[in-house]
Amino acid sequence: MKEDIHKPVYVTQPSMPPLEEFTEYLKLIWESKQLTNNGRFHQELEKELCNYLGVKFISLFSNGTLALITALQSLRVTGEVITTPFSFVATTHALWWNGIKPVFADIEPEFYNLNPDKIEAAITPQTTAILPVHVYGNPCNVDKIQKIADTYGLKIIYDACHAFGVKSNNNSIMNFGDLSVLSFHATKVYTTIEGGAIVCHDEITKKRIDFLKNFGFAGETTVVAPGINAKMNEVQAAFGLLQLKYVDTYIEKRKDIARIYREELKDVKGIKILHDIEGVRHNYSYFPILVDINKYGISRDELYAILKKENIYTRRYFYPLISEFPSYKGLSSAAQSNLPVAEMVAQQVLCLPIFPDLELNYVNKICSLLKEICNAK
Ligand SMILES: *Cc1c(COP(=O)(O)O)cnc(C)c1O
Repeated sequence: MKEDIHKPVYVTQPSMPPLEEFTEYLKLIWESKQLTNNGRFHQELEKELCNYLGVKFISLFSNGTLALITALQSLRVTGEVITTPFSFVATTHALWWNGIKPVFADIEPEFYNLNPDKIEAAITPQTTAILPVHVYGNPCNVDKIQKIADTYGLKIIYDACHAFGVKSNNNSIMNFGDLSVLSFHATKVYTTIEGGAIVCHDEITKKRIDFLKNFGFAGETTVVAPGINAKMNEVQAAFGLLQLKYVDTYIEKRKDIARIYREELKDVKGIKILHDIEGVRHNYSYFPILVDINKYGISRDELYAILKKENIYTRRYFYPLISEFPSYKGLSSAAQSNLPVAEMVAQQVLCLPIFPDLELNYVNKICSLLKEICNAK
């Protein structure tokens, strides 16, 4: 195998649109001299994203983390928020930056999303909202979560950073809950280099979010709230307009890779893979596997190390759990006994390389290697 794989292969790599096409946008930016503050491309991108995603209102942000922080601000979420420990740290950090106490509830064992059956027991008089994550772009149980929120009068903000373009029965997954937050970071399926967005369902909320991301300015001399600066600039927006032309092709290429992984790995003992859900349009943002040491023969960490030696850089998304980091470890809900499923998945999960430019023969090589390692045990 060593001779075959020379170039390092990373878990992801952004797809670059044709440079000539980007310079056309740059020329227009140079001519207009408008670099930011709701410029032409910013406005165009909001419109095009609403169309593409099938949502009513979207506000662009400089990154997903500031969008999460602002989403919580815009609904005046306070007190305690129930969330998942199985996510990227920014999910919980957004609560911390708002002075909100995170309350971790366990995930379900099928798709590793927040388990709706664990939410009610975590509700206290201080609870004001639920912050679930559509992990790997697989939709949460949105109906069950909505029912709980309605019963207890809670807001729902979805961290949809993995879920760009995901639809359930032809309806954008972003149309559920009160707000959905997207990230357009370079490592995501759709990117504006750095960037993010909040999807909301009415014009008044959209206006409030737009005030909040621009220092609270409602007019030249009117400041209506203590806002922050989280605006997307024109270069990011132009890059986003260009990426939008290609994103369906990117997702198709990801799907081809997922198909090979699934076909090749389906009979490997001790490797669990996730399958597509009927009625869902997936985006194939990640390809996670679970490695069961007892059946596969070696641990996830040993496999990670062996692949790294072969120049294949997988990632342990998400390990450690957010609840294991020093800022959150002291919370009673962070106790391992409260999060058994999340603990198990965090010990076993490994995300394999998946990105549009990944050559299919590399995918086959990675699969052969995974089989060889198993058979050698
Ligand atoms: C990427 C990501 C974020 C943060 O987004 P940035 O644009 O990098 O700030 C938050 N939550 C999840 C689940 C993510 O994957």
